[in-house]
Amino acid sequence: MSSIWERTAFLDGPHLAVVGSGIVGLFTALHYQRRFPHHRVVVLERGPHPSGASVKNAGFACFGSPSELLADIAAEGEAVALARVEERWRGLLELRAELGDTAIGFEPTGGYELFHALDARYPQVVTGFDRLNQALHGIFGRTVYTWRDADTAGLGLRTAHLAFTDLEGPLDSGLLVRTLLQRVAAAGVHVQWDRPVERWEEGPEGVVIRCAGGIALRAARVVVATNGYLRELLPQADVLPARGQVLLTAPIDGLRLRGTFHAEEGYYYFRDYHGRVLLGGGRQLDKAGETTTADATTPLIQEALERLLREVIVPGQAFTIEQRWSGVMGFRTQGKSPLVEAVSPRVVVAAGLSGMGVAIGIRVARKAAALAAE
Ligand SMILES: Cc1cc2nc3c(=O)[nH]c(=O)nc-3n(C[C@H](O)[C@H](O)[C@H](O)COP(=O)(O)OP(=O)(O)OC[C@H]3O[C@@H](n4cnc5c(N)ncnc54)[C@H](O)[C@@H]3O)c2cc1C
Repeated sequence: MSSIWERTAFLDGPHLAVVGSGIVGLFTALHYQRRFPHHRVVVLERGPHPSGASVKNAGFACFGSPSELLADIAAEGEAVALARVEERWRGLLELRAELGDTAIGFEPTGGYELFHALDARYPQVVTGFDRLNQALHGIFGRTVYTWRDADTAGLGLRTAHLAFTDLEGPLDSGLLVRTLLQRVAAAGVHVQWDRPVERWEEGPEGVVIRCAGGIALRAARVVVATNGYLRELLPQADVLPARGQVLLTAPIDGLRLRGTFHAEEGYYYFRDYHGRVLLGGGRQLDKAGETTTADATTPLIQEALERLLREVIVPGQAFTIEQRWSGVMGFRTQGKSPLVEAVSPRVVVAAGLSGMGVAIGIRVARKAAALAAE
């Protein structure tokens, strides 16, 4: 039973309802509200706070690594792969300009890709390195990658080769989302927490959105930004869940690691975080098992991550694991480009950001907001 005040203030009549309060949902609401300051915009989030990949990720502000980009070019062709790099780079610049480096904890440390001595990718990357740099010149206007094998000892790593770019670095994903929430609130968007959307009915007058607990809202338009959870609402959508597992060590005495690090086409990634190592990946070890939204970690992948720590990242140094968690990404079945489209006259979907939502989220959201405004 809702009162007239509950109905008029919170339930009836938003012009736009966004489902999901990750980077994409919040930026969609912000872009739309700025364009239509007098419209009512709500974000419906099922968790008590943003609860998806945007607050479970590794916090890399990056656009790919040499082995990943060369693999993408081989798989999809240069035009498609480079267009995606450009989206990521523009997205990072827009994100930093919009929220500010301090407010997202961005550190311009630069980032590396590691290759161990027997890594079969290394000779291929050596062969393609100059061609890749030339191709990227059109986007960045300068050389992006250099070899920095000599940095290995200084970083405390046990690896043979390092490719470096000064154009990426770590950020604080929690700070980023909190800052974004402040912007969204200041713009007039109303975020409703603990509001799991179960389904909706679309009609000529608008969309009735059914939430758990029998609560229903009426909105003119809906943007669904639930990323890896999309199939719970749209079972046929071309976005599959892809779980990513992470571990965080306790502070390690004398840790020399600094920056963001990729290995094996981005399947492993690690960085320093307040004297600790944050390490994630290993999904390629059990792709079928990791095609899940289950909030869990597995011994297979956590042991692989610990091995990488022991043998490559902090060899010979004692460490303990302080925390483990997992997050759910959304992947398209073909390629890595996101799904941003109207699925019916009043419902837009923006999902499937793969492992790059920090970079592309703001631009995906801009497209979703524009579609919702049509
Ligand atoms: C372990 C890991 C590491 C990553 N590392 C990086 C990285 O370093 N750099 C990078 O660029 N990207 C990284 N990513 C990817 C990036 O985090 C995502 O692409 C991005 O956060 C997706 O944002 P989103 O807003 O689309 O989705 P999400 O942040 O997942 O937001 C979806 C929201 O929808 C809510 N929701 C779901 N279902 C419902 C429902 N029925 N009703 C209401 N609300 C609902 C969820 O609770 C969630 O808050 C990583 C991801 C993971 C999992």
